[in-house]
Amino acid sequence: MSLLSVDTALEILLEQAQSAGCLEVEELALVEAENRVLAQPLLAQFAMPPWPNSSMDGYAVRSAEVQAGQALPVSQKIFAGQNPEPLAAGSCARIFTGAPMPEGADAVEMQENTQELEDGRVRFVQAVPAAKFVRPKGQEALPGDEILPAGIRLGPIELAMAASLGCAVVRVRRQLRVAVASTGDELVEPGQPLAPGQIYNSNRTLLIQSLKRLNCAVIDLGILPDDAQQTRDRLAAMQDVDLLISSGGVSVGEADYLGQVIREEGELDFWKLALKPGKPFTLGRYQGVPVIGLPGNPTSSLVTFLLLARPYILTRMGVSDPSTQSFVVPVNFAMPVAGVRREFIRVALVEGRAEKIGNQCSGILRSATQSHGLLELPENTTCAVGDRLRFWPFSSLLN
Ligand code: AMP
Ligand code: MG
Repeated sequence: MSLLSVDTALEILLEQAQSAGCLEVEELALVEAENRVLAQPLLAQFAMPPWPNSSMDGYAVRSAEVQAGQALPVSQKIFAGQNPEPLAAGSCARIFTGAPMPEGADAVEMQENTQELEDGRVRFVQAVPAAKFVRPKGQEALPGDEILPAGIRLGPIELAMAASLGCAVVRVRRQLRVAVASTGDELVEPGQPLAPGQIYNSNRTLLIQSLKRLNCAVIDLGILPDDAQQTRDRLAAMQDVDLLISSGGVSVGEADYLGQVIREEGELDFWKLALKPGKPFTLGRYQGVPVIGLPGNPTSSLVTFLLLARPYILTRMGVSDPSTQSFVVPVNFAMPVAGVRREFIRVALVEGRAEKIGNQCSGILRSATQSHGLLELPENTTCAVGDRLRFWPFSSLLN
C-alpha cells in the first residue's frame, strides 16, 4: 500500500467534515459562550461610540476660539456618563476621558497644556487644532457594520466586543459530541496498580483534555479490551454521538477488534500516512457515526490528532478556517538523511532557533513536554544548521 500524503488526508477529512452538515444553533449568555463558534455574523446595531467623546482629561473648546496664551472661563464640568449642555460661546468645559463632547465643542486640550488661573479661568499654552483628543461618533463601528463573521471561535476578545455592542447573548453552534475510546488489554487507568505487561493509559487524558479545549462535549468510553464481543457491546451502547475517536489497534490489524466491529456496522478505511510519527490512521463510519482511529503510540496519537483530527473537528464545529498559525524558524540541527514521510520533530525555540528535543520515538511523550511545538520537515528533504523550516507552536495547535 502506498503512503497517503498528509495534505491529501487532510483534504479528505475536511471534505467529509463539510458534508456532515451544520450543528444546531443555540443562544448563550456571553459568559457561557467562551470557545463556542459564532453561528451568524454579529452586526453593530448603533454607532460606536454613540457620540463624540474626549480621549483625555482636559478642557473641551471651540478650536477657533483658542490661540496660544488665551484664557477662557469654565462654563461646565463633564464627567463620563453625563449628558452635557451645549458649550457656551467664549468658554471651555472641564472634561474627563470618555465624557461626551458638549455640542459646539470640536477639540479637547489635555490639562497638562493648560494653567488654572486665580480667577477660575483656564489659560491655554498653545492653539488647539480642531478634532484634537476627540473620539468621533462611529469611530469603531457604524450601524449595520459586520463586526464578527460567522464561523469564528469566541474568545475573551470577541466576547468583550459583543458586550460592547450591547449583546447579552450570542447565537452559537451547539457542542460537538465526541466519544473517546482507548483500546488495548495492556492499558490501565492511573490510580490502579500495574500488573506485568501493563502500561498506564495516556491517550485517554490526551484526547479528552484536547477535546475539552475545543469545547467539545466528551463521552468517555474508557478502555476497550482486545475482545470483539466486549467492543461490540460498548459501541452499541453509545448514544447521541457526532464523532468517535479511538486510539490504538490500527497498526497491523492482528489485535484490531475495534476495526472489525466498525466494519460489521459500517465501513473503515485504513491509511498509511506519509507522516512521522503517526503512520497508521483510520477513517470510517459506525452506524452512521464518523470514526477517526488514531495510532496508539502516544506521540503518534498527539501528532495525528493535532494535524488531522483537530481541523476535522473544528470544521464539524462550524469553524470556517480550521488552520493553525505557524511560522518559519531557523534550525539548530541537521537531518542529513531524507525520509519518505513528512516528519514533525519535537523542538524547543531557543533564541528563536529550533532545537531538537530528546528522544523522538513515537512511544515517547516526555520530549513533547519539553518542546514548544513541532517542526515540519517535508518528505524527501534534508536539513542543515541554519535552514529555515515551518514551526507549529503547541500554544496554537492545542488552542
Ligand atoms: P497499537 O496501535 O494498539 O498497536 O498500539 C501501539 C503502541 O501504543 C503500543 O505500544 C501500545 O501499548 C501503545 N498504546 C496504545 N494505546 C495507548 C494508550 N491509550 N496510552 C498509552 N499507550 C498506548
Ligand atoms: Mg493495541
